[in-house]
Amino acid sequence: MEKLDVEKLKEVGNASVEALNIAAQMIKPGAKLIDVAKAAEGHVAEKGFDFAFPINISINGQAAHYTPSLNDELAFGENDIVKLDFGAAKDGLLGDVALTVSTASDNRHASMLEATKEALDEAISMVKAGARVSDIGKAISAKIEAKGFQPIRNLGGHGVGVHNLHADIFIPNYDNGDDTALEEGQLIAIEPFATLKNGKGIVVEGDAEEIFQFEQSANVRMENSRKLLKAIMEKYSTEPFAARWLGSVLNDRFALYSSLHDLMRAGAISSYPVLVESSGAIVSQHEAEMVVGKDSCDVVAIV
Ligand code: MN
Ligand code: MN
Repeated sequence: MEKLDVEKLKEVGNASVEALNIAAQMIKPGAKLIDVAKAAEGHVAEKGFDFAFPINISINGQAAHYTPSLNDELAFGENDIVKLDFGAAKDGLLGDVALTVSTASDNRHASMLEATKEALDEAISMVKAGARVSDIGKAISAKIEAKGFQPIRNLGGHGVGVHNLHADIFIPNYDNGDDTALEEGQLIAIEPFATLKNGKGIVVEGDAEEIFQFEQSANVRMENSRKLLKAIMEKYSTEPFAARWLGSVLNDRFALYSSLHDLMRAGAISSYPVLVESSGAIVSQHEAEMVVGKDSCDVVAIV
């Protein structure tokens, strides 16, 4: 395995964490999602980093992959449980870190937030070369269940490669029987997700599509689609991008989203649809990124 530049990774991690802290402080009833996104992404850009992916701001039954749309009008409600997931990037080294915050004025979400945070801390304490991913998953689900919740079984941690957010290894949030062992020097992200006991514990794709990925060049006829594809290939050919980032190319919602769908049909781009708990139950998440060591791990991003 190629030796990772851990110091550079920590700089990427720090920028990601700073941006998330800025975002977390802004999450209040009535605040607009797009202002939070602009502040977090603006911080990373100002620090001279690229983006590993657009900031994900996923509310209540959404588990992941919502990012504000072009000219998004959405605002946070009174009792929202909000997942913030983001990463800066440098030379293909990708940050990936997340936390959950609540807009409730009481502590109704407190134990759910603790469940995923404690599960994450427990998992981190187990990370070392030779640790089996199913044992980590078992510990994650035990912590979540001890708080009266259940893990989401079809989301989990993963290896992180250069320009590759989901590489090689999968780290489940329950005991899935996978004997795969962690290897020294591996960069991984661990991300426990919890939902209510009477939820399904499974996420499915919802309707919203705001995050896209360039796949390959393609011949498209419509002028708008050609313009859009050119901009995507120039600026966002490696990491996932947000539809709203292309507002300087097509600043009309209908034109932008129709052209994105035209490019999807042509195979030039793909999408990451928003992921929702299949029963609509609320979801919490915490995520950290670390390098696997011989006897422990070196955390590069945690919030
Ligand atoms: Mn993430
Ligand atoms: Mn991740």
